[in-house]
Amino acid sequence: MGTLTKETKLTLLYMAVAFFFSVAVRMIWYYQFADYEAFKFNGQFMINTNDGYFWAEGARDILAGVHQENDLSPTTTAASQLSALFAYILPFSFESVILFMPIFLSSLIVIPIILIAKSLDNLELGLVAALLASIGHSYYNRTMIGYYDTDMLNIVLPMFLLWSIIWAIKTNEDKYLIITALDILVYRWWYPQSYALELSFFGLILLYSLVFDRKNLYNYKLLAIMMFAMLNIDGFIRFPLVIAVFYIFRQEKFQKYSYHILAASIVLFFASGGFDPIWSQLKGYVFKDAVTAGEEGLKLHFYSVMQTVREAGHIPFNVFADRISGHVVTFIASVAGFIYLAYRHKIMLLALPLIGLGFLASVGGLRFTIYAVPVLAFGVAFLITEIARFMPTKRLKFLTIAAFSLAVLYPNIVHVQDYKVPTVFNSDEVKILEELKGIADREDYVVAWWDYGYPLRYYSDVKTLIDGGKHSGEVNFPVSFMLTNPQDISAKMARLDVEYTEKRFKFIKENEELIKDKNLTLFSNIEQMTKEHGFSDTNDFLLSLQTDLKLPEKTRDIYFYLPYRMMDIYQTVEMFSSINLMNAEMKNRSLFYASKSFKQEQNIVNLGNGISLDLKSATITINNQKAPIKRFVQTMYDKDMKLQKDIKVADSMAEINVIYMSNYNTFLVLDEKTYNSLYVQLLVLEEYDRTLFEEVITSPQAKVYKLKI
Ligand code: MN
Repeated sequence: MGTLTKETKLTLLYMAVAFFFSVAVRMIWYYQFADYEAFKFNGQFMINTNDGYFWAEGARDILAGVHQENDLSPTTTAASQLSALFAYILPFSFESVILFMPIFLSSLIVIPIILIAKSLDNLELGLVAALLASIGHSYYNRTMIGYYDTDMLNIVLPMFLLWSIIWAIKTNEDKYLIITALDILVYRWWYPQSYALELSFFGLILLYSLVFDRKNLYNYKLLAIMMFAMLNIDGFIRFPLVIAVFYIFRQEKFQKYSYHILAASIVLFFASGGFDPIWSQLKGYVFKDAVTAGEEGLKLHFYSVMQTVREAGHIPFNVFADRISGHVVTFIASVAGFIYLAYRHKIMLLALPLIGLGFLASVGGLRFTIYAVPVLAFGVAFLITEIARFMPTKRLKFLTIAAFSLAVLYPNIVHVQDYKVPTVFNSDEVKILEELKGIADREDYVVAWWDYGYPLRYYSDVKTLIDGGKHSGEVNFPVSFMLTNPQDISAKMARLDVEYTEKRFKFIKENEELIKDKNLTLFSNIEQMTKEHGFSDTNDFLLSLQTDLKLPEKTRDIYFYLPYRMMDIYQTVEMFSSINLMNAEMKNRSLFYASKSFKQEQNIVNLGNGISLDLKSATITINNQKAPIKRFVQTMYDKDMKLQKDIKVADSMAEINVIYMSNYNTFLVLDEKTYNSLYVQLLVLEEYDRTLFEEVITSPQAKVYKLKI
């Protein structure tokens, strides 16, 4: 180490300190739950983000070397490939690898931050900004331990890109041309939607070149090599291409062609369709509608996920500020500090796209705030180091920096301590999925709401109809229909939807060229079913499910996974099939009310939300309206964990049913439709039709049934 300069040593030291700090803070969760067995599986904590099971499935299959056709396993994605690599070379269990990957990868953010500060000759700025950015509220939330998702590198990679373009423009050194291009290649590999930020950087550099530095050939070389790296073609072609371009740029005799090369790169960019994703994005914003209609044919209307997953909407300023800087005061100081920093060091204006994306949060949803965290951390860190500059002694300088740094870090650390996110599943649920893995074949389908799709595929290695990425209105409709309709109808829909799903995959594979050439949109399964059964009105087809309609040939088994935790989302699940597909009219909501906190006073049980039960007169009061009760059901597990139930019919003409699930301490208030739904009949009452279903796994957490037809 003797040859390293003092500055280099200090840079490395700061990086190490900040990295260690970032990792240590992320371990707080680990120690908070150290003894909590419900969060563990195979002796390790489970992950806490649903989408993580998607990448985990891909990584598992890469390591296994095989996966099933059309099982939607993402074996070609970067996150799965990198995870598989780590799991392969590191001496830890797969569970440990995916649990800890976010900690170590996201902490790498301190490196570009400190390197950027180094280019401003202010290493202390880098250290303070790195400490704050690494644990900044929203950055922490999406990169904490077990938050196994692409977020773990989604900010790190553009920060490296920012570093390399800053250094490129400041030094005009050739090596930053290739570093920038490689950055883009890696970033695009990791996160295919990265084009938006890359293009913004490109535009900003172009603007900067035209306004301030028009004669500098280097800038155009930088732009050209960036454009080549961004072409909408396979990475394996772009990689040698940027190497070749870099080689040409290094040759004296080719200098005069630099402009031509830039022009060529731009033409190629458009020709390769590099701009297409931006177009479709814009189109998506313009036509953001509640219901999506089919292109032709029956023009069915489906309920859109956008209506339920709404993290957008109006975000209060203090939430926004907290998420970016940890505190409103820090946020304001950060914005002011960044303006001052950009004034003193114009080069920092190159960071504007990241801030812009962060501020998109106010329209695009909270998840965008994460992009502004590192850049605005520079703002407050710059103010701190500027204040310290006025201090007369070295000691006072140090104390100033330390005191202010602690002050800005403090709210973020408090947040970390309070942010006790649970794992996606608990260990009992995962045991069920593990058991199912031993029962179901890999080609079999498990019907479940999309929230359970990825975990089911990871733990049980089965196929699913919907999941965290495949949950549009048209694919959700049949599943929603199955869970909320009577079991005989649902059973038929299950067989239909599974066989139609497989048929669709086959059709797409056999007609790949045709679909691409004509830009075909395939009809939904439900539309295909309607037509193939000779109907022109989907409602008529749905009604025909009550009759003996012809079912497709059975190619595999189908299971139903019904977790108790779906109680919380039953009404959301139902929404997707409560729409009249022909005219987009929403049907009346059915009654499903679950109460886990209730109070009994004599013969009145108060279930909350203005709902109370009169045990003596067998009536229920909802919003001051008294109604008779049809059935009063009590369920309980006996010593052998067999479900026992006691059903009392109070008024056979009434419409409302009450179920008391005594072991769960849960009251359910249901109308007839909900009472007769597959979910309630099979999960809550274990009242299943022996000709249609077979009980496979029953546990208080979830029940699994096998379809017999
Ligand atoms: Mn599989």
